[in-house]
Amino acid sequence: MSDLFQNKNFTPLSELGEFGLIEHIQKNVKHYHSQTIKGIGDDAAVIEKNDTHYTLITTDILIEGIHFDLIYSPLKHLGYKAVVVNLSDIYAMNGTPKQIVLSLAVSNRFTLEAVEELYAGILLACEKYQVDLVGGDTSTIHKGMVINITAIGEVEKNKIVYRNGAKEKDLIVVTGDLGGAFMGLKILEREKAVFLENPKIQPDLEGNDYILERQLKPEARKDIIEEFERLNIQPTSMIDISDGLASEILHICKQSNVGCEIYEEKIPIDHQTYEKAREFNLDPTTCAMNGGEDYELLFTIPLSDYDKVKNHPDFSVIGYITEPSKKFNLISKSGTVHPIVAQGWKHF
Ligand code: ADP
Ligand code: MG
Repeated sequence: MSDLFQNKNFTPLSELGEFGLIEHIQKNVKHYHSQTIKGIGDDAAVIEKNDTHYTLITTDILIEGIHFDLIYSPLKHLGYKAVVVNLSDIYAMNGTPKQIVLSLAVSNRFTLEAVEELYAGILLACEKYQVDLVGGDTSTIHKGMVINITAIGEVEKNKIVYRNGAKEKDLIVVTGDLGGAFMGLKILEREKAVFLENPKIQPDLEGNDYILERQLKPEARKDIIEEFERLNIQPTSMIDISDGLASEILHICKQSNVGCEIYEEKIPIDHQTYEKAREFNLDPTTCAMNGGEDYELLFTIPLSDYDKVKNHPDFSVIGYITEPSKKFNLISKSGTVHPIVAQGWKHF
């Protein structure tokens, strides 16, 4: 090892973790424009647009070998997912995405037909979510593929929802079900290992259609933003679930300076996710808490709005917000209290 790395003054990035690193970057950031309403720290940046609306901006990078594996991700699905994960962050502000810009770096391992497949997925998502692809950049790269998408959206000023508005006694609500995308990944990883061992064996993907789709072709919850409008729900805080329920509820609580109690028995888990977790000797609740990539919405509402969500098929009330000194707890099915802890560093 070189002397450089033996010097104690150098800090491995794994020591900070992803969120620690972002916080560190944030410390030295100054804003020079009063139109910058919210910078680093939420699902999207918020910029003054006009008297009634804000502009929202968010970006995500997808790297081959880290965020996706082309052994089992069809390029069309990958293109679709790359768009969806960005739109999800605009919906998490209660906003509507309008445009995307997309930068693509591809090595010469890829053909024109491969890029066409990728764009077929990208454009399908643009059509489904009604967003315009308005630009980007293209480059070659030594190895693999990198996709970076920036989504631009807008939100009515009085409808915007930040991560930091959760209040004591608010209900914690989650959409859809959790852990499916993670179990889909587990199946794909298993079949990849089998394939690498013996390419003649056909992959065994039978009966896993729901969780495979959750992993390979997720959707963003545009419909939920529309439901909020229809039911006259104004969440006090919101985030999209890209890194698992545990990590996201901690973001909401820490930014809102509150605690939480989540009830294991209330966490929505699809039966296919449950069965597969059991088959893999995993705890289904752990898959929901730490799995990630579900792209559901996690939000809080005042207790007085309970009637609006209680019998809704897309909503599960999973707990409530407490005073900050109570910290962050998961109450297990048997009634024991487990502190909710953030997942470690994922990508470093
Ligand atoms: P999400 O999971 O919602 O996409 P992230 O955890 O990726 O959010 O990012 C949290 C916040 O940190 C966002 O406001 C994002 O724009 C900001 N952020 C992430 N990485 C960087 C970076 N390298 N430089 C500046 N801001 C960053
Ligand atoms: Mg997000």
